[in-house]
Amino acid sequence: MAAFGETIFAEMTRLAEHTGAINLGQGFPDTDGPPFLLAEAARYLTEGVNQYPPGYGREELRTAIAADRQERYGLAYDPATEVYITVGATAGIAASILALVEPGDEVVLFEPMYDSYSAVIALAHGVRRPVTLRPSPDNGRYTFDPDELAAAITPRTRAIIVNTPHNPTGTVFTADELAWIARLCRENDLVAVTDEVYEHLTFDGTPHLPLAALPGMAERTLSVSSAGKTFSVTGWKIGWVTGPEPLVRAVATVNQYLTFTANGAQQLAVATALRHGMDWVSEQRDALHAKRDRLVAGLAAAGFQVHPPQGTYFVMADIRPLGYDDGLTFVRTLARRAGVVAIPAQVFYADERHGRHLVRFAFCKRDDVLDEAAARLRAWG
Ligand code: PMP
Ligand code: GLN
Repeated sequence: MAAFGETIFAEMTRLAEHTGAINLGQGFPDTDGPPFLLAEAARYLTEGVNQYPPGYGREELRTAIAADRQERYGLAYDPATEVYITVGATAGIAASILALVEPGDEVVLFEPMYDSYSAVIALAHGVRRPVTLRPSPDNGRYTFDPDELAAAITPRTRAIIVNTPHNPTGTVFTADELAWIARLCRENDLVAVTDEVYEHLTFDGTPHLPLAALPGMAERTLSVSSAGKTFSVTGWKIGWVTGPEPLVRAVATVNQYLTFTANGAQQLAVATALRHGMDWVSEQRDALHAKRDRLVAGLAAAGFQVHPPQGTYFVMADIRPLGYDDGLTFVRTLARRAGVVAIPAQVFYADERHGRHLVRFAFCKRDDVLDEAAARLRAWG
């Protein structure tokens, strides 16, 4: 693992702390989740929910997740055997890949990609096969070439990782894009691992569609999500995997030796929030929508080339109009000279050259923080 070094998120948050810059790098909100959720967790902690929960997680949360996926997407999961609670989506993704991938197996995924995918594929001694998402010339939305995706699949391909809404591009895959992916999975007998941590954070009425809901996909999809982004509690690290019983059992077999189980009091609080807190999530989505527009306008005024993302916490910005072509140099300069930290997007690419001219900004911050960042960027640019 030496080649992986420290994650870019830790490095950039430290840079923000050292320089006193505004941190629009790592994706975490600067306000807390809903007070009722925090109070629920505190109550469970003081009322004695402090020992190991069952390996699959607290029944209350597994039942709430199954009910939520049934109501929202029409997907039926048995809470006893087809829902598994993990330490954030990160552990869910890791356990899924470690469960599926044998040494030499190939995993198809889209670049730019969330950083943990490559690391867990490496831990499994698998081989990643990236397919590049590119901005469409008319609206800047990132998408893939269907033929390139088909060509990435070989007889060694075991799985495909599908992250929608997508970090860092903000793309939300359409029904047609998902249908193409599903068809390739069925024809080539692949398992899909989906990362849906931003499932509730889509804008302009763009619907999030889970791959598992497509024909023939429920039986070959491990869907991963978590509470961190939905309820603005990224530090809680409560995630979950849903899927067919044999695949979830394989995830459980791996995860019992990774973390065994996840914090029980917070599991119970998240169960309550899934049942009774979704109005708060809708308000949060609307607030984020406005923040997206605020930051996109600020970046455009500062000279970046930007397009509004369809979902997530993030917007990608092209730095070439500002006279730069290397995101890493750019973000270090920006932190010192402008007092704003962003993430160089090249770290999300298997081939760094594809993303050298891009940086990612997070807009999940207070309006006054976004306004101050925009003012600093304008003054500097
Ligand atoms: N996947 C993506 C695409 C993410 O952006 C993140 C960061 N929240 C994660 C997974 C990790 O989620 P968690 O904090 O629940 O482990
Ligand atoms: N998901 C967050 C992001 O993309 C960071 C998570 C982490 O620090 N690993 O910025």
